[in-house]
Amino acid sequence: MDVAVIGAGPIGLYISSQLAQNGVDVHIFEEHSDIGNPQHCSGLFSEHIFSIVGTMNHRGILHPSSKARIVAPSGEALNIGTNVTRAYVVDRVEFDRSLARDAVRAGASIHLKERIRKIENFKIKSTRGEYRPRIIIGADGINSITRRAMGISAPKLISAAQVIAQYDYKALDTVEIFVGNNVAPGFFAWAIPLGDGLAKIGLGAYGNAWNYLKMLLKSVKGKPLSVGGGGIPIGTVKKSYARGMLIVGDSAGQVKATSGGGVYPGLRAAECAVQVITRALESGDYGEKSLKNYEDCWKRSIGKELSKALYIHNFYRKIRDDDFNNIVSALNRPDMIELINKYGDIDYPSKVIWKLFKKNPKLLKYMGIVTRR
Ligand SMILES: Cc1cc2nc3c(=O)[nH]c(=O)nc-3n(C[C@H](O)[C@H](O)[C@H](O)COP(=O)(O)OP(=O)(O)OC[C@H]3O[C@@H](n4cnc5c(N)ncnc54)[C@H](O)[C@@H]3O)c2cc1C
Repeated sequence: MDVAVIGAGPIGLYISSQLAQNGVDVHIFEEHSDIGNPQHCSGLFSEHIFSIVGTMNHRGILHPSSKARIVAPSGEALNIGTNVTRAYVVDRVEFDRSLARDAVRAGASIHLKERIRKIENFKIKSTRGEYRPRIIIGADGINSITRRAMGISAPKLISAAQVIAQYDYKALDTVEIFVGNNVAPGFFAWAIPLGDGLAKIGLGAYGNAWNYLKMLLKSVKGKPLSVGGGGIPIGTVKKSYARGMLIVGDSAGQVKATSGGGVYPGLRAAECAVQVITRALESGDYGEKSLKNYEDCWKRSIGKELSKALYIHNFYRKIRDDDFNNIVSALNRPDMIELINKYGDIDYPSKVIWKLFKKNPKLLKYMGIVTRR
């Protein structure tokens, strides 16, 4: 076995298919018996994701999304977007399964219902056996065993809760975002239409996300049919490699702290992992110095945007309800909305923010929020 990938989420599956295509003997270990389940994602994906995974066909796309309605605590709504597609609502189970098909077709082996219990001296012990791969990749999510074996501290997590609910959404192409400290302190809530009178309604929060979600469901009259949730990493890990091992995706905190979106940054980091591991296997050098190239690569590729997202998050989480109301009002002008429509990008939110400050310098007074405790 050349490479053991722990975790058959989107990031582990993508890495595995790419490595297998390069002729590497890859084995993926997944503790669950069914790829994609249990799902813990709203499945709002930008086009950037499909440009990495190769095609949009058979990837579980339900419909395009082109607009957003942001609701302030006062009830004022900011409607942004045009008819141009901004993102796609995706069935995450189908998406993950499509990546699993790619991996298996490329020659990777998937060990379902085989949990990795221990990693020691470059050996992995699972519920079924023991293996000694040349390289171990931890794509094992927020509670990563690989990260623990590497002695790396976990990133900070906030709690997230989500339901699929019967919901009277505004329009199929419109995502609703609710902000405010009584709705989702430090983060935000969302309602993503699925069609057929159903939506994914969820939120992230500092505090107990379930309690806030129950209150939100009451106020928007959402009737839950199934529940899910998880944790959202806020900030990347201090180190993502060790001799013979690396971590990628949620396990390394490669998630946008602004939105909780982890699939795009995780895939960008996965591209780096594939390059560096392919080279390491060719040279036979799996030492720290060789695998450090992985961290250098993802920091160049997506690190700057993740740092900016963290900065924005730390600013955002200190915004009070009266500030939210004033900011939404300040943005609710045709020229500001035009700017958001022109430069808004869910994977690169920082691009538009500085432009908004420039256009309406009155917004700069909110910069003082950064210094709040
Ligand atoms: C409520 C919510 C909504 C979200 N919405 C979006 C969104 O709209 N868009 C977006 O881009 N991102 C979203 N995210 C984030 C996104 O789901 C994650 O960033 C993404 O799933 C990370 O992929 P991954 O492969 O790194 O980890 P995961 O998807 O968590 O996969 C890790 C896999 O490893 C397996 N595993 C763990 N430990 C072991 C072990 N010891 N042995 C064997 N297997 C193991 C797990 O079972 C799991 O299958 C959301 C997250 C939450 C919580």
